[in-house]
Amino acid sequence: MAEEPRYIILLGPPASGKGTQAARLREALGLPHVASGDLFRENLKNETELGLKAKVYMDRGDLVPDDVTTAMVMERLSRADCASGALLDGFPRTIAQAEALDEALSAHRHQVSMVLYITAPDEVLIERVSGRRLCRTCGESYHVTFNPPRQSGVCDKDGGDLYQRNDDKPETVGKRLQVYRQQTSPLIDYYRRQGLLVEIDGHQPIDAVQADLRAAIHG
Ligand code: AMP
Repeated sequence: MAEEPRYIILLGPPASGKGTQAARLREALGLPHVASGDLFRENLKNETELGLKAKVYMDRGDLVPDDVTTAMVMERLSRADCASGALLDGFPRTIAQAEALDEALSAHRHQVSMVLYITAPDEVLIERVSGRRLCRTCGESYHVTFNPPRQSGVCDKDGGDLYQRNDDKPETVGKRLQVYRQQTSPLIDYYRRQGLLVEIDGHQPIDAVQADLRAAIHG
């Protein structure tokens, strides 16, 4: 019989390292990395209706409405490459999204396997956000000081141009942290109550966080 699909959630504030860690975990686990923020940015790049709708919320540092977000992520999870599960990054971000995910998975007799909650102090998050740069072509993430590309402004992977996200600019970061505290942090208790939460100290070098994540997964 096929193995149960695994749905592993990376939870944490903006710039806690979810995306960076997921990109490194993906191959080790053999699971696709499904990042709601990346899906929105891809839609925006392709100027789809969904992307243009999401942009208004993203630029303000607000969450995109639950129904739009949930439909987009569920569609992604229904694709063939997610047959053995997924590494979810940035989704769910509200209790309503978490409930919708539980419901959709349980319809297939599946469930969330584990929630890795990555923490870091606010001042560290702000420092990371302000130095973050993304590749315009492949979306790879860098930090000008902590995780710099070999050549400044150029992606190591494909030579693409590096840019700063609109919502990483100082005027939006405070709003995103506030939105996280109000709307996303209730998920910590939601998953703790289900016995799924593992807390990971994200204020360590990238490799050390990765090692802790792998240890938690292989428990
Ligand atoms: P991220 O790349 O995860 O920081 O996401 C960038 C932006 O995309 C967020 O600030 C939101 O505006 C939007 N977004 C990403 N994931 C979600 C989600 N699960 N629910 C609502 N909005 C989201």
